[in-house]
Amino acid sequence: MSTKELFSTALGLEDPWFVKDIKFDSKKRRLEIILDFSRGSKFFCPECGSQNCPIHDTKERTWRHLDFFQHQAYLTARVPRVICKTCGVKQITVPWARKNTGFTLLFEIMVLNFAQFMAIEPLSVMVKVHMDSLWRILSHYVEQARSGIDMSRMESVGIDEFSKKSGHQYITVFGDLEQSRVVYVSDGRRSDAIHQFADFLERRGVDTSRIKEACTDMWPAYLKGLRERFPETSLVFDRYHVMTMINHAVDLVRRNESKEQKVLKHTRYIWLKNAINLTQKQQKEVQSLSRLSLKTFRAYRIKEALRQLWSYRNKDEAELYLKKWYFWATHSRLDPIIEFAKTVKEHWTGILNYFHSRITNGIIEGINSKIKTAMKRAYGFKTFRYLRTIVYLVAGKLTLPTQY
Ligand SMILES: [Zn+2]
Repeated sequence: MSTKELFSTALGLEDPWFVKDIKFDSKKRRLEIILDFSRGSKFFCPECGSQNCPIHDTKERTWRHLDFFQHQAYLTARVPRVICKTCGVKQITVPWARKNTGFTLLFEIMVLNFAQFMAIEPLSVMVKVHMDSLWRILSHYVEQARSGIDMSRMESVGIDEFSKKSGHQYITVFGDLEQSRVVYVSDGRRSDAIHQFADFLERRGVDTSRIKEACTDMWPAYLKGLRERFPETSLVFDRYHVMTMINHAVDLVRRNESKEQKVLKHTRYIWLKNAINLTQKQQKEVQSLSRLSLKTFRAYRIKEALRQLWSYRNKDEAELYLKKWYFWATHSRLDPIIEFAKTVKEHWTGILNYFHSRITNGIIEGINSKIKTAMKRAYGFKTFRYLRTIVYLVAGKLTLPTQY
């Protein structure tokens, strides 16, 4: 087998394409494979597929290919433009690359595979390709894969916010709670973020009334957006967010009280923990603090009582319990707890809807770490488009090409 035949086979070239020449420069660490097509060849029209179109002219082009050992490899070929009776003069599509890219399909797929496991910056260094080019490759395949996802059966959506680096900028992530995948990402966390998702569904031909449940936190902008665009969707307030809010209230009580009660210093995490998760040492500490008739301890007991709510199986029983809890909380004489109880009252139905559907954003929480990793990987590229691309790539369960 000659060297030309070897490369031709390795590249999977088919008639009329063949390896015409090979140039190897060990100083520049560069291998160049020059391809050509047989004289008199005719090609398909790239637009209408019509056969046997004669060649109008050719244009030389070069594509970066997978490395040849420690050497960068390039393919070069004169690419014909054909004359189609219907479409006019058109540049053909070569079998080893997509249109308008300087990389072969194999190179792009290699990039796509690595980008699922490593950050873009080191990947750029590793493959010696500018990051902008890598982002363009990723965007193309992610968009292509997303255009094929079926949204028509989605019924429950989980909505959650994630903050970018400094914590002042947010993205809103929409998850399909049954399929446990990210289906949409919008910029910011205003009501407009919800509108963008509704527009996306409509573009996909999905009526927003198909979405039966939305699991979210109590962020007013989300609630506004949901009222405006998903009026028929029932809200389920995520129990994790509810517990986060009461934890915050407990901590406010502790912080106020610790000004007079020095024993409360450095006890923050004890009060935030689920009682059954306390270590033995922490349990003893709670026991000894419980004898001091502390406000913080009362707030803590109200919090733990609210936690009991989620173990109810039946909505009516849960509501009865929540009513008793509400009475207790509003009579606690603890301002942050009373404030929180009022919030509960305002979101009563959405909290109790949990007992119908039992959905939580737990699935989003499950892909939470993936999203956070993705955001770190997009570090240095705070443009929203890139961030979104990488979130889809790692948490969108997309069907991406792994070979060609
Ligand atoms: Zn044509």
